[in-house]
Amino acid sequence: MPLFDTVLVANRGEIAVRILRACREMGIRTVAVHSEADAQAPHVLVADEAVLIGPAPSAESYLRIDRILEAAAATGAQAIHPGYGFLAERAPFAEAVEGAGLVFLGPTAETIRAMGDKTEARRRMQAAEVPIVPGMVDPLADAAAAVEAAEGLGYPVLLKAAAGGGGKGMRVVEDPEALPRAFDAAAREAEAAFGDGSVYLERYLGRPRHIEIQILGDMHGRVVHLGERECSIQRRHQKLVEEAPSAVLTPEERAAMGAAAVRAAEAVDYRGAGTVEFLYQDGEFFFLEMNTRLQVEHPVTELVTGLDLVQWQLRVAAGEPLPFTQDDVTLTGHSIECRVTAEDAFHGFLPSTGRIDRLEVPTGPGVRWDGGIDEGFDVGLHYDPLLGKLIVHADTREAAIDRLARALDELVIRGVETSIPVHRRIVRHEAFRSGDLSIRFLEEYPEVLEPEGEAGADPAVAAVAAALLEHGYRERRAAPRVGQASDSGMSRWRASGWPWNRAG
Ligand code: ADP
Repeated sequence: MPLFDTVLVANRGEIAVRILRACREMGIRTVAVHSEADAQAPHVLVADEAVLIGPAPSAESYLRIDRILEAAAATGAQAIHPGYGFLAERAPFAEAVEGAGLVFLGPTAETIRAMGDKTEARRRMQAAEVPIVPGMVDPLADAAAAVEAAEGLGYPVLLKAAAGGGGKGMRVVEDPEALPRAFDAAAREAEAAFGDGSVYLERYLGRPRHIEIQILGDMHGRVVHLGERECSIQRRHQKLVEEAPSAVLTPEERAAMGAAAVRAAEAVDYRGAGTVEFLYQDGEFFFLEMNTRLQVEHPVTELVTGLDLVQWQLRVAAGEPLPFTQDDVTLTGHSIECRVTAEDAFHGFLPSTGRIDRLEVPTGPGVRWDGGIDEGFDVGLHYDPLLGKLIVHADTREAAIDRLARALDELVIRGVETSIPVHRRIVRHEAFRSGDLSIRFLEEYPEVLEPEGEAGADPAVAAVAAALLEHGYRERRAAPRVGQASDSGMSRWRASGWPWNRAG
């Protein structure tokens, strides 16, 4: 007997596909919802049934709670998986789903609310003896209060939106003169993004690593952690590359951070899959926030633990007790993920649009592609630019890096600019291989983001170019197939020649 007869996935793109597949494996009937723009999207094609819920803008489709509940009623769905983004961390959605007599595949609305407000979460964590980033636990009344609070903390400080997410409403402030303006700007940005202008202050750490702990809780009071993911490689405070385990954590540190994450989860009666994020610096760790949902980077945890997190979300939501304890959780090998986005990474990560006219996904031992695109699919500006995730697993970190480099060479996406070239540079970068990472990686190695044509002058980039030469293989693969009509990508390629000619 399946846990649920029918599950609706209130999301799109790679995560909807991922969840729908997990349901199918469990014998559960699946329902996708989609906007007009997504009528032919992969998540629609993968589902047993699909319901149109509105026009392209998310506010008129993927964020319409009423339409989603109507779709659930019309298709007989018993449970709704929110994925990440969109409605995943909106307490009113969880309430509405439960109110309609359906199962919300996530924690309770109360838990979402407690962790969704960063100041409230910090207060709760303090009470649970989870170390927090030094700073305030209450929103600031005004700019003057900010100046006073910053005095006590010491500069630089970080202004943050209490309701924040996605790096919005965040401002680094170096000195008191700059604080009042930054306060106004952060409050305005937070108000616009979240409808809540509350901001507070934290100490801005110098060179931290982002290390987070995956937790899983059932409805019978058991919470276990599944080890860490390191997500230090970021741009503008958003993750680009994630790995498990971290290159630096000792087993003792892992146990201490894991125990703190379990305390955090227990403090809010957590059930399901969740993530407790920390900043780690010089052997110390500080609570950053908790994400009360499945994360983009969950696959690296799956590959080192052997657990299917989506299937466990379904199991615990159906009331199954976790049949394993902390001691049963073992981490095997090393896993790394690249977030492949439709963005021109060499020009400020500018979003890129177009039709995917060629997609070739690497295969082979230890390679996984969680994708949300097909050939012929139109990538527009309405949604998150994530096209898919390339994930590898190998015995050691070294071997995983080599495997990822190989897989990235084989990955071909044409029709839009993508972040693939930057991922190729990152995985071949000596600093990445050494494991000496921090959230400032791209500031410390700006050559990684230099456009290919302008890369010749810098010796570090010349080394990368040499590596690319070695892998001319991927360029041959990227060329159009014989007989295929020339497209814009081809003419660009002709006009500018091979990358190593330009780089040399
Ligand atoms: P959001 O919810 O907007 O994503 P987070 O609190 O999760 O914001 O922080 C996102 C990223 O911002 C972190 O991974 C880190 O790179 C950076 N960051 C956040 N707080 C600090 C801090 N106090 N010091 C230094 N960097 C920080």
